[in-house]
Amino acid sequence: MSRSAHPAGPRHADVLPEGHYAAPPADLNQLDPRVWSRTVGRNADGVVTVGGIDVKTLAEEFGTPAYFLDEADFRARCRAWREAFKGDASKAEGEDADVFYAGKAFLSRAVVRWLDEEGLNLDVCSAGELATALAAGMPAERIALHGNNKSTAEIERAVEEGVGRIVLDSFQEIVRVAHIAQRLGKRQRVQIRVTVGVEAHTHEFIATAHEDQKFGIPLAGGQAAEAVRRALKLDGLELIGIHSHIGSQIFDTSGFEVAAHRVVGLLKEIRDEHGVELPEIDLGGGLGIAYTSEDDPREPQEIAKALRDIVHRECDTAGLAVPRLSVEPGRAIVGPTAFTLYEVGTVKELPGLRTYVSVDGGMSDNIRTALYDAEYSVALVSRASTAEPMLSRVVGKHCESGDIVVRDAFLPADLAPGDLIAVPATGAYCRSMASNYNHALRPPVVAVRDGQAREIVRRETEEDLLRLDVG
Ligand SMILES: *Cc1c(COP(=O)(O)O)cnc(C)c1O
Repeated sequence: MSRSAHPAGPRHADVLPEGHYAAPPADLNQLDPRVWSRTVGRNADGVVTVGGIDVKTLAEEFGTPAYFLDEADFRARCRAWREAFKGDASKAEGEDADVFYAGKAFLSRAVVRWLDEEGLNLDVCSAGELATALAAGMPAERIALHGNNKSTAEIERAVEEGVGRIVLDSFQEIVRVAHIAQRLGKRQRVQIRVTVGVEAHTHEFIATAHEDQKFGIPLAGGQAAEAVRRALKLDGLELIGIHSHIGSQIFDTSGFEVAAHRVVGLLKEIRDEHGVELPEIDLGGGLGIAYTSEDDPREPQEIAKALRDIVHRECDTAGLAVPRLSVEPGRAIVGPTAFTLYEVGTVKELPGLRTYVSVDGGMSDNIRTALYDAEYSVALVSRASTAEPMLSRVVGKHCESGDIVVRDAFLPADLAPGDLIAVPATGAYCRSMASNYNHALRPPVVAVRDGQAREIVRRETEEDLLRLDVG
């Protein structure tokens, strides 16, 4: 499904689906605050700035392509999530909930330190992510380990370090983690990840709660109940709760409602069968962000209230004490905080079709368009322009025709080589999924805040590439 923008003019009617395109924005210079990070704006010369520094200065210092991450925005989003889920301190039972940032969206040591300072916890799903978290000093008890096929070495490291929870994903893993914990003389806190049979309203490739998928243990057929039965019997495990993650880029809470209903149903079954009330539930991440002006994401406050209401209602109905809730936003925290800055290399007009704008990066720094048919916005940022809108496709420099960064967008018709353009909302799943395809050197991530810019992940060099090539 595409929501790309073009007025279905007769010129394009034969190649583009009719009636499917929004009109070009009234002013191409305008930067929609939903799509761009908080400190982004245009200065008096029409040049876009972030954190008080203009992009021409940033490009000169750090080169292009590069990701620029708005640190103040990142921290503000952490705080918004933290505050939203803190609940009502006046309530005696305490309604605090835990926010776990999903490290796979983007992880570096600087980011881990910001998370730590802002009071968030952290999800990791590999030895590398765990090592990064520990190297930056995140306390192990605030780390959760995920994954559908954690290696023995990964489990051992996590148990030894004392991670706060391991999320179990299969029957084999229940036994594997129990054995390792026992061998190490520990009792590991664990959750069991279940699939609740909810299809999130999003792109099929990134939905993850169909039962026909690799993650989790299905509630259906009593499999999850059996997993609980086995976990409760093992001395090496302390079963603290049930985990559910229903998908990605979700805009409404109805999917969470069904998930919470089914998870609480399982908690009730567990109570009735075993006489234990598990103290925690985790409803996962997957909350959507605005990639284009047509996306309308919910605020953390709204999400927190909706999830809390759902869990309360379900628990009241089931006659259960309300468990401690946790959520795992990744994209919703880091996604909107960064943009990718590119230099335009060529502008190729295909009359009657569209204009191809080639930039100095591509699918190696943003695979999401090719992989998920993801949509992005783009703007000319090194100057303002009053030229007519031009239907454009922003493409990379890779040897692959699917190397598209922004499938359909409007850029000013006077766009020329040397102009800088930026793609917003690339903070999540861009650098973390970047590749060396065509031996591209992966771009740096530059944190910008209060007039200061610094690389938190440096640009790769040819030396980096050749270091792995042992000849
Ligand atoms: C990917 C993932 C998340 C984060 O998803 P976002 O869409 O980035 O919010 C959270 N929890 C689990 C288990 C995940 O796999």
